[in-house]
Amino acid sequence: MHFLSLIENKREGKILAPETIREFIHEFTAGNIPDYQMAALLMAIFFRGLDTAETTALTLAMRDSGDVLKFPKDPRPLADKHSTGGIGDKVSLPLAPLLACLGFRVPMISGRGLGITGGTLDKLDSIPGFQTRRAAAQIVAQVQKTGCVICGQTDTMVPADKKIYALRDASGTVPSIPLITASILSKKLAENLDALILDVKFGRAAFMPTRADARKLAQAMVALGNQCGVKTRAMLTDMNVPLGRAAGNWLEVKESVAVLDCGPTGPVRRNDDLRSLVLECAAHLLVQTRKVKTLATARRRAEDCLNSGAPRQKWDEMLIVQGADIPAFNRKLALDSTAKIVVEVKAEKSGCISQCDARIIGEVIRDLGGGRLTKDSAINYDVGVDQIAKPGERVEKNGGLCRVHAADSVAAKAATTRLKTAFKISAKRPAKTPLIVEIIR
Ligand code: URA
Repeated sequence: MHFLSLIENKREGKILAPETIREFIHEFTAGNIPDYQMAALLMAIFFRGLDTAETTALTLAMRDSGDVLKFPKDPRPLADKHSTGGIGDKVSLPLAPLLACLGFRVPMISGRGLGITGGTLDKLDSIPGFQTRRAAAQIVAQVQKTGCVICGQTDTMVPADKKIYALRDASGTVPSIPLITASILSKKLAENLDALILDVKFGRAAFMPTRADARKLAQAMVALGNQCGVKTRAMLTDMNVPLGRAAGNWLEVKESVAVLDCGPTGPVRRNDDLRSLVLECAAHLLVQTRKVKTLATARRRAEDCLNSGAPRQKWDEMLIVQGADIPAFNRKLALDSTAKIVVEVKAEKSGCISQCDARIIGEVIRDLGGGRLTKDSAINYDVGVDQIAKPGERVEKNGGLCRVHAADSVAAKAATTRLKTAFKISAKRPAKTPLIVEIIR
């Protein structure tokens, strides 16, 4: 193939034929196109964009660059959710067992965090013994028997995305809607899903800072998902404030278990936003797959299921199948903290919380060692922030804004100083802002 003319064509804004796209993805995955030429094409795409047919061809070619999971015929629909990521976003953890109990099969293939947003696999790595590496046959067998798996991509799934994403990361071409769409959906399509719910976040700590950009990305992904035969919906959700009361790998596992236990996260504050987002994801999937007719009935069905305690048992079942040491996990759950130091960040005056900046909280956790600066950084699973006060809530002078879990007192002190700037306290209660602002069908 004459790759240079393909770069030149895209540079001039021409449309690439689907066969051409399939061919260059095949050749690039096989190692026959040098990185510098692929990076040039990515930059041309970044500026010129891809139309719907080109994006579809790219997504399908990337999906077909490796193995696609094959499941036996079964009345239970295959479903998953994808989030564009945020601070305290641990929805996948309670959602997978909830969906399994609602009669779905859930092959939840997740990723690791980079920068300030955490990754589901990093959270799961904080569970003693839990294995996130699974071969394709193990994924299929576990989904068929247990109903859900949460694990990493196998070495042979969507290799084109791995190679292209690394180049995008190094060439400033990550924030391109067609490239993001193809990257996310190629991986989801490799799970062979019937239905997908997307949580596209906007705000200070989101990948898409504005609601308008988040909507554009959501619309592109919903259109493409449906066109490829997966019933796809998206929710636009606010990521100016962390989700739930805790952020940091182990603290998020603990909060997820609290949601499955149907209780508050700890002795101090409830996590209603997290619980309601988990239930909304489940309710939409019930409607998308026509298991339930209306969203109102689906919400009740999801809530009854969560309250029954069955998803909490399913969680333990999933953990056991994936190698977790349940007695060690339960001992860890019983601890107030697994970090060396826990410090309460105190309010300097009384009033109402009017801001709780998810970006600052995310940066603090990364700097405590809980996030990655590069994809090879080691992370500390025990550090983080919990008991986070949320906008609209009243605090008294010297009352807690949140707690810092740190590896040492120097790190705890630096985190405390920075965390004070994440919160604003006002005399008046701020207007309530919804978590889910829009559904894209
Ligand atoms: N997440 C992905 O998997 N791919 C992107 O391009 C962006 C976010």
